[in-house]
Amino acid sequence: MSREIPYKIYLEENEMPKQWYNVRADMKKKPEPLLNPATGKPMTAEELGVVFCDELVQQELDDTTPYIDIPQEIRDFYKMYRPSPLVRAYCLEKKLDTPAKIYYKFEGNNTSGSHKLNSAIAQAYYAKKQGLKGVTTETGAGQWGTALSMACAYLDLDCKVFMVKVSYEQKPFRREVMRTYGASVTPSPSTTTEVGRRILEAHPGTTGSLGCAISEAVEVATGSEGYRYVLGSVLNQVMLHQSVIGLESKTAMDKYGIKPDMIIGCAGGGSNLGGLIAPFMGEMLRGEAEYKFIAVEPASCPSFTRGKYLYDYCDTGMICPLAKMYTLGSGFIPSASHAGGLRFHGMSSTLSELYDQGLMEARAVEQTDVFAAAEEFARVEGILPAPESSHAIKVAMDEAIKCKETGEEKTILFGLTGTGYFDMTAYQKFNDGEMSDYIPTDEEIAAGLAGVPKIPGIQ
Ligand SMILES: *Cc1c(COP(=O)(O)O)cnc(C)c1O
Repeated sequence: MSREIPYKIYLEENEMPKQWYNVRADMKKKPEPLLNPATGKPMTAEELGVVFCDELVQQELDDTTPYIDIPQEIRDFYKMYRPSPLVRAYCLEKKLDTPAKIYYKFEGNNTSGSHKLNSAIAQAYYAKKQGLKGVTTETGAGQWGTALSMACAYLDLDCKVFMVKVSYEQKPFRREVMRTYGASVTPSPSTTTEVGRRILEAHPGTTGSLGCAISEAVEVATGSEGYRYVLGSVLNQVMLHQSVIGLESKTAMDKYGIKPDMIIGCAGGGSNLGGLIAPFMGEMLRGEAEYKFIAVEPASCPSFTRGKYLYDYCDTGMICPLAKMYTLGSGFIPSASHAGGLRFHGMSSTLSELYDQGLMEARAVEQTDVFAAAEEFARVEGILPAPESSHAIKVAMDEAIKCKETGEEKTILFGLTGTGYFDMTAYQKFNDGEMSDYIPTDEEIAAGLAGVPKIPGIQ
């Protein structure tokens, strides 16, 4: 007889992960390496070390070590807000009248309000260990900048954030949270960098983009003594740190003998989804179990479902290494959707490779459907979800409704990455019936992809 499943499955401190899991170690065909845009050759540790912290470079390049120790200091920080709850969505199941069993892993129970803190503390820790003065970064909607500010404050590191101008103006409260934690916040593009001035000259009045803020942050890091650049998504190292989400989920589910049939997550740069599915994907890669994995992206920025698997720039200024990924082209500017964290033109190269091998599915969903699902969820489960997270809610609900039609008792696990308190303007638009769904035309997608670089001998 199976034990009755509680509403929330917690872990004891001694059950929390002591190591991160590196899914690349179990991949037969590995993700493609980062390339130097000048030479078209794989980036060496030395070249990456100019931009990133040394130990993070090692993690970035390591595709053979399956388990990497989580330093004690980071584990201690994790204990302040982890384990995050794994919730059985009994109330949502009842509302949907479905035989499906729905679980979600909630990452919003820390002040920064999302999973991003899991990697922020790790990256800040390695910067501190290297004896650096500080770090620079970009932030779009503001979640990553907030998380990094918290981590830097804890470790007494300087934190310089370039915030996409439109968010800087529209989300003053996020900006103030960052400043409260001691970070300096500059709206991007700015006149403080060479690349910012270049972009402003070419596009006067631009409200900025993530790719542009990345270029500025990298320029400041490489030009300032004792600084390195850190990034909140896309990179392998970030997905490695986020594996703590999946490892906790798996330990909690194993305690009760629960095996998910499908695992669903929203995908911006792929870090929360990659982290959530990592240990389950590892089992599948080793032939020990079968799961269905679903990446959910906005129809306005459909990297997986309409992009191409090519080497591309990660930033607008084209100063970062090239990554092989599902991309819409670094010049693609998605429409002003409210899921700021899902507006990146590319995708994690590890997830891209897994998707290309057919080990993962992807779905694109429209904004108004996402908000309708978010409100239905909030009204029964209590949590006010972030717009990004609500993409996963939408597809989890769709799958649960399918189970009702077929009578299948499937077990669904989805990632609830954060809370939406700073997104009330978006909820207001939805409540007032003023939210629109913009889906890029084939011509717009083709125009973005036309800007993907030609690399002799590669593409
Ligand atoms: C940043 C963010 C995402 C998307 O980033 P990934 O790297 O794809 O996980 C999703 N949800 C929230 C709440 C975020 O802040």
